[in-house]
Amino acid sequence: MDLQTDIQYLKGVGEKRAVLLRKLGICTVDDLLHFYPRTYEDWTNIRTIEEAAIGETCCVRAVVDRKPIGVRIRKGMTVFKTDVTDGKSLMQITIFNNRFLAEKLETGEEYLFFGRVSGNLWKKEMVSPMAEKPQSAERIHPVYRLTEGLSGRTVERLVSAALEHCAAQCAETLPQSIRDTYCLCGIRDALYNIHFPPDADYADHARRRLIFEELLTLTLSMRSMRTRNRARTECAALNDCTAAFLNTLPFVPTGAQSRAVQAIAADMARNVPMNRLLQGDVGSGKTAVAAAAVYLAVHNGMQCAFMAPTEILAMQHFKTLSAFFEDSDIRIALLTGSAKASEKRKIYAALQSGEIHVLVGTHALITPEVVFHRLGLVITDEQHRFGVEQRAALGEKGDNPHLLVMSATPIPRTLALMIYGDLDVSVLDELPPGRKPVKTYAVTGEKRERVWNYVKKYLDKGMQGYIVCPLVEEGELPLAAAEEYAAQLREGPFHRYAVGLMHGRMKPRDKEEVMRNFADRNIQLLVSTTVIEVGVDVPNAAIMVIENAERFGLSQLHQLRGRIGRGQAESSCILISDAQNDEALRRLRIMTQTNDGFRIADEDLKMRGPGDFFGARQHGLPQMKIADMLEQTELVHEAGEAAEKLLREDPNLSAPEHRALCAAVEKLFAKIGSSGMN
Ligand code: ADP
Ligand code: MG
Repeated sequence: MDLQTDIQYLKGVGEKRAVLLRKLGICTVDDLLHFYPRTYEDWTNIRTIEEAAIGETCCVRAVVDRKPIGVRIRKGMTVFKTDVTDGKSLMQITIFNNRFLAEKLETGEEYLFFGRVSGNLWKKEMVSPMAEKPQSAERIHPVYRLTEGLSGRTVERLVSAALEHCAAQCAETLPQSIRDTYCLCGIRDALYNIHFPPDADYADHARRRLIFEELLTLTLSMRSMRTRNRARTECAALNDCTAAFLNTLPFVPTGAQSRAVQAIAADMARNVPMNRLLQGDVGSGKTAVAAAAVYLAVHNGMQCAFMAPTEILAMQHFKTLSAFFEDSDIRIALLTGSAKASEKRKIYAALQSGEIHVLVGTHALITPEVVFHRLGLVITDEQHRFGVEQRAALGEKGDNPHLLVMSATPIPRTLALMIYGDLDVSVLDELPPGRKPVKTYAVTGEKRERVWNYVKKYLDKGMQGYIVCPLVEEGELPLAAAEEYAAQLREGPFHRYAVGLMHGRMKPRDKEEVMRNFADRNIQLLVSTTVIEVGVDVPNAAIMVIENAERFGLSQLHQLRGRIGRGQAESSCILISDAQNDEALRRLRIMTQTNDGFRIADEDLKMRGPGDFFGARQHGLPQMKIADMLEQTELVHEAGEAAEKLLREDPNLSAPEHRALCAAVEKLFAKIGSSGMN
């Protein structure tokens, strides 16, 4: 058996499980070894029932009082209940519909129960915990991404088998000198400890090494790509008419906007495709800059594709651009997934004939039916939500079109290089004049009454507001929560006002309708889950209340708050939270202290620090399994440094000690290359 052996033939797998494993992207033994845990369960830190805090997920050692008794509460639903004790206190165990677990628990036997503690001070409770005999279970367990029919413990056993049979065959990609310089452990130790760490330090160490390896490989791939010849484009925009466009705007562009437009015009005048990132805090006016690029392209005989991550955003860009181009002869269309088939067909035809100049839309733009006459400029908004493949697929609809990427997330340049390849950056570091910073307050839930009165003052002055409530926790019903909450406000404090509701599960069409009603001022107060996070622009909205503010990250809070403070009025943002922990309090404090997106991003990075690697963020890069680059600035820097030194000493990575690394780079390069990334 070797690393490339089909996963089906690993001991304990077989045909059926192989199908499930393939669903998770695991086809070979090697894939399984690199299938890293999402997080861990610490079954070594054992609490007494008294110590186990309500709301906490932890491990409790206790003896079963009596075998759980099942009660059928309705068809197909049986609840088992029993009490367990650690000699001092009692805890209730409630098991939904899991006869297997209920029958495993024997009277008088001791188990480790792992789960979230609920109940009240009189009697604590665990609902559907895991239960295992202490001897075998008392260690740190890996938690993997799973699929129906495959349990965590099964994957754990399979990984263990794979390590036993094949870990010794894993080639060391990092030369000794690099490992020494950056204190990185060997590949085998890393693989053992990422799956089965004896303690948290071992896991951290393993993670650091694996991330470093990913980053180094990626950097080396990017470097070698950059030295290749850049493609040429037939779409040089020689007639710079951007000044004429800027003159038609209802406002004077900021210095930063003018500079960005100049840089774009210079890029687009060349016969090498532009590859530029336009970065600017929320409200810095990226759309006007993008519009100038569109204007330039169209007046030089090209078509443009403008892609946004959501239908609401696409709609909004469509509207904004339509307004900008109202008095020009630029024809613009909107294409989203929910458009009618007949509508779509019309658009396809007009696009292919060149009648439509600008097509705005969601990823519906990359479907094969979309064919351009002469696509010269591709713009994507909030790019980190698109994968490399999606961006490339859009680019392929033209002949090396110019590319402009807009992002509101401040990304350090080294990271940007890695994510976007060889690109230039324009930063809008200046807000349009007259903006008043949003006043931000943090209050506890007790003050809700006063908060509502404060909100009413805004509404009574004719302004509008948002109330943001986070998706509630797993297991509860997010939909019902948001709906019920809106109903309470509608019937209670805001019965005299028009209250609207928008949440993530609504159909795009319905969301649009709500947003339109809000923009048209038919809705005064919009209750929403975080779907308003990006891009929505309603300048008359001047007040925002964020419920359970502690559940949001700093950058997310900043994005949310960016929805207000867009008009002339003084705006306020109120963060409601009963959180006690230091980190949450610190986040809230930072929000009340600054409106500066870059400072907030900085603090965000600092606070999350290493240890939050397993975040589910998608950046679309192949093979980036655990490196979340936005949070790994230090390692990114070190990997960059190591890459440079390596290439200086051995430009082709041909020395024997670099062979494994070279192979890894080629493999990654082939993947990125084939997905068409520049
Ligand atoms: P971003 O996408 O960068 O968050 P927008 O492009 O949505 O920002 O612009 C925010 C608001 O500011 C819009 O209402 C826009 O019309 C307005 N705006 C943009 N540039 C200027 C400017 N130079 N002066 C005044 N208002 C501006
Ligand atoms: Mg925007």
